[in-house]
Amino acid sequence: MIRNILITLSLLLSFGLYSYAYVDIVYPSDKNLTINSDVMFFSGNTDGSVTINSTPVKLWENKFFVHTIPLNYGKNIIKVTSDKNGKIDEKIYTVTRNKPIKSNSSKSEIQYVSFPDGVLYSKTVKNNSTIRDYPSTKGNRIIDLPKDVILYFEGKKGDYYKIKEISDTQLWIHKSNIENPVKLESKLKTVIKNIETCSDKHYNYKKFYLSFPVMYTLKQTDNKLKLTLFGISDEKTQDTVNREFIFDYNFPQLGYDCYYDGSTLVFKMAKLPEYIDEVHPLNGINIFVDAGHGGEDKGTIGPERIYEKDINLDIALDLIDMLKSAGANVSYSRSHDTKVGLYDRVESAKKNNALISISIHCNSLPLGKNPYEKHGTEVHYYNDNAKILADIINKNMANDLSIKLNGIHKSSFALTRPTNPVSVLIETAYMIYPSEYILLKNKYFRKNVAKSVKKSLEEYILFLRNNKS
Ligand SMILES: [Zn+2]
Repeated sequence: MIRNILITLSLLLSFGLYSYAYVDIVYPSDKNLTINSDVMFFSGNTDGSVTINSTPVKLWENKFFVHTIPLNYGKNIIKVTSDKNGKIDEKIYTVTRNKPIKSNSSKSEIQYVSFPDGVLYSKTVKNNSTIRDYPSTKGNRIIDLPKDVILYFEGKKGDYYKIKEISDTQLWIHKSNIENPVKLESKLKTVIKNIETCSDKHYNYKKFYLSFPVMYTLKQTDNKLKLTLFGISDEKTQDTVNREFIFDYNFPQLGYDCYYDGSTLVFKMAKLPEYIDEVHPLNGINIFVDAGHGGEDKGTIGPERIYEKDINLDIALDLIDMLKSAGANVSYSRSHDTKVGLYDRVESAKKNNALISISIHCNSLPLGKNPYEKHGTEVHYYNDNAKILADIINKNMANDLSIKLNGIHKSSFALTRPTNPVSVLIETAYMIYPSEYILLKNKYFRKNVAKSVKKSLEEYILFLRNNKS
């Protein structure tokens, strides 16, 4: 009985709602906001016809829209109206655009408090402690240090400490990454006790047995890798010097990594399997597939409230299946709708000795951009060793999917920064560009994305095989 009443009530309610016009605005999600740009966009869906400040809005299939409007300085009152047979739904937005303030921050002149005498000593308290060339998050990342690396400081600016080492760039670390610094009379003596070379199935290793962990950097230039160990005591002169090690890198497109095992610095370079089959090149190759976002992190939201996380997962699951069928050893960050931390994803790829890591996303733009100006398929990479893979995937996707080639981009993301595995992040297409959004909703298109990525991985492995010296 109660059930019947509830059903009748909900039917009445839905019919009631149905007879009114509605406009569901996805972006912007706030009715009061500040956007310092000359344009902004509205995206959403409706059951009527829509005007924004009296201008008719183009409606795409199933009546979704993405509409750009100009912004004036000061307060902009924006009225979004949906009309269905004379029934009206109206929403008012207040968007403030501020006049630009002249920025006087220049990277070249850094005023900091210097520590006069003695040595200020500390060590990192967590993994992925970022060293930058400037005392703010605007600074370039020099390296992410692991936990327990010993550091000395010569100055401080705001929440950043300046590392005291001889270097061609300034080295800064945020205070949240280190123990409270303490004063010492002089630096602790660090020597390289032994250097060992070895290898296993996946990697070649060089191990530096140190007195305790010191700061290091690792740079890739052409076919060489330069590892610098800072503040090593010279056994003869007793001076503190930087020691450099150059590794000839036969496979500039493979992964490499550096980390501490206790006080031993381990440097490793990934190996390509001895035998690679011409017809089944992915056979036996370790590949990590990451479906971007998940759980409460929805990613970008499409104009009909379709979530990026679900599209990413669908493509990733197809890709995982295809790679497994091709004989690859596939590991992945998630196989269902769940939240996974960014660094947990990276750790998972490393733990599975992946040779390649592929992260799958769909693109969007900030509210203060024109979504009709930028679209297409993009691949992001950060380290030089991933550039060729990024390029192969990007070109194949544009061709195979008949979609605009928006090129490869050097971007610092958690899923592109690792030097091992070789890491790329695919922005399949734009969810706020109507014709690409329509493609992304299509199951057949998504399967073709996975096919194109699998084909690119085969091409890449054959490229590595053929360039093996
Ligand atoms: Zn994303």
